[in-house]
Amino acid sequence: NLSGDAYRRQHEITVTGDEVPLPFSSFEATGFPSELLSEVYSAGFSAPTPIQAQSWPIALQGRDIVAVAKTGSGKTLGYLIPGFMHLKRCCKDPRMGPTVLVLSPTRELATQIQDEAVKFGKSSRISCTCLYGGAPKGPQLRDIERGVDIVVATPGRLNDILEMRRISLHQVSYLVLDEADRMLDMGFEPQIRKIVKEVPTLRQTLMYTATWPKEVRKIAADLLVNPIQVNIGNIDE
Ligand code: ADP
Ligand code: MG
Repeated sequence: NLSGDAYRRQHEITVTGDEVPLPFSSFEATGFPSELLSEVYSAGFSAPTPIQAQSWPIALQGRDIVAVAKTGSGKTLGYLIPGFMHLKRCCKDPRMGPTVLVLSPTRELATQIQDEAVKFGKSSRISCTCLYGGAPKGPQLRDIERGVDIVVATPGRLNDILEMRRISLHQVSYLVLDEADRMLDMGFEPQIRKIVKEVPTLRQTLMYTATWPKEVRKIAADLLVNPIQVNIGNIDE
């Protein structure tokens, strides 16, 4: 059972920010409800990945976070599980709009995120839908109307639906920018900024990225408040 500092050294975790909580080196240390722990064990996972171990306690405290870790490091559950806990605490009416909003660069990635949300959120009775371009809007609009806790969206399609006034983001209090570097590379910055204007400023904002170039630093500085930054390994700028 490693101390927090030893765990960080062993897994090349570096953190910056005020009062950073210690990582959870095991699933038992997370305090997640048993139905959720059964889901991760039956998925065959034996321990949190380093980005999960360090970002979970930060996100659970309601802090803004920037997490920089390469592809395949388990970032999705890094933000989804604290999102589930956030939903449990808030108990909002999903018919009034989503509480958790995840922005993702592509349809493929958005669908993968939704699949993880459905798989791991099932036992907590969490609902999730996915909004992306290149598909008819009708079924997506119907899902929104029926009411969902989590919306995973590509910035282009979400912006279209916002302009049609068919979704309200006034209940969003947990906002995730996943693959922020790729979203900016794909030219989504104007859409992201428009979307964020519709989200209340009283919210938790989490940014997950594989690289940390200056464009990403700039948008992080604009959208996050007093964040804690977590890096795993050497980061590419
Ligand atoms: P990233 O977003 O960093 O590229 P993903 O969240 O897509 O990574 O996760 C990569 C793979 O690792 C997925 O198949 C996911 O189910 C799996 N995974 C997530 N957490 C763990 C864990 N704690 N232990 C083992 N595998 C995990
Ligand atoms: Mg990812």
